[in-house]
Amino acid sequence: MNTARSYFDHNATAPVLPEAMEAVVRALEMTGNASSVHGEGRSARRIVEEARGDIAALFGIKPSGVTFTSGGTEAANLAIHIAVRALGVTRLIVSSIEHDAVRASAASAGVPVRLLPVTGDGVADMAALAGLLAEEGGKALVALMLANNETGVIQPVAEAAKLAHGAGGLLFADAVQGAGKLDIEFAGLGADMAAVSAHKIGGPMGVGAMAMRPGLAAEPLIRGGGQEFRRRAGTENVPGIAGFAAAARVAGERRAGMPDLERLRGRLETGLAAVAPDLVVFGAKAARLSQTSLFSAPGLDAEKLVIALDLDGFAVSSGSACSSGKVIRSHVLSAMGVDDDLARGAIRVSLGPGNRDDEIDRLVKSWGRAYARFRTRWNETGAPAERRRAAGVEY
Ligand code: PLP
Repeated sequence: MNTARSYFDHNATAPVLPEAMEAVVRALEMTGNASSVHGEGRSARRIVEEARGDIAALFGIKPSGVTFTSGGTEAANLAIHIAVRALGVTRLIVSSIEHDAVRASAASAGVPVRLLPVTGDGVADMAALAGLLAEEGGKALVALMLANNETGVIQPVAEAAKLAHGAGGLLFADAVQGAGKLDIEFAGLGADMAAVSAHKIGGPMGVGAMAMRPGLAAEPLIRGGGQEFRRRAGTENVPGIAGFAAAARVAGERRAGMPDLERLRGRLETGLAAVAPDLVVFGAKAARLSQTSLFSAPGLDAEKLVIALDLDGFAVSSGSACSSGKVIRSHVLSAMGVDDDLARGAIRVSLGPGNRDDEIDRLVKSWGRAYARFRTRWNETGAPAERRRAAGVEY
């Protein structure tokens, strides 16, 4: 067991930035409910409203368009709820690679849902979108994420927004993985609503925001008091919001460090391909977040790989971390038409500013050892997954 740990799972959650931690602690040391009229309350309110300005600046919208939530999941649920309950949306067109936060929320919205297919490289198919928008059914909300959490593939959100608007519809962009890595200004995206999450950009867990074009009507999902412009009831999470804004402020500086992460990812993928000639990097031909790599080779088992890598000191994930713990096939790889035997071994490495060349080299060696071990057994049985499983062959 190696005691030196290397963290390669930044898409699951990023380490909290010192600036964010400091802001959280400072807010925790204060007393005051942001709804109270006394001095303490006004101090808390000031923190919330300054933070609202910082988050609004990320999107290039007015602060009144920002609703603080408990995270990306709630922000996605709120956006879809508002679309259906307040904006006259009668049908949803959801990309087949959306996060469960969007997929599950859409499925329970009470209106028909159509899935938007992706290409083999994991990019939403715009011709298919035009076709879906042309169908009968009234006003559509298109849900398309900015970048996929598993593959890192960047989606044509601006093009989708143009198509949606041309057909009288709206667009919701899950910007949870795009924030801090890509430009998320509404003017460029053409989005009507978007979701972000603090813990993906170096802020604390359990806080996020739903951003919307100011002027759009709204309707709360969580009811109670009149907080957040009556769009989200409940006493504001002032320390969380303070930490979120602090992380958002340094998000721009961190984006400047992204080219180095792209170089590191190149080092990783070249190293892996040298060890495994049959390596497949998913979405490699598409534009991707420069710090994300999802890869596999036939005959591997991701669950076992994650454990083997963990014992060697590496934190990586198999497909989506949000669904790990259960052996379920990645819906993203299914949508991309990846066959079972390859999908089963998919490992995601998502880099962050703390990662170094020597860690990458050690990860390649560790993965290579596991690959050789699994591969030997696979070759011995000489059978594809279904037959191996039917024969009860253990990896
Ligand atoms: N959307 C995407 C693309 C994500 O990757 C995640 C988290 O993994 C979420 C939404 C959910 O965000 P949160 O963890 O803040 O609820």
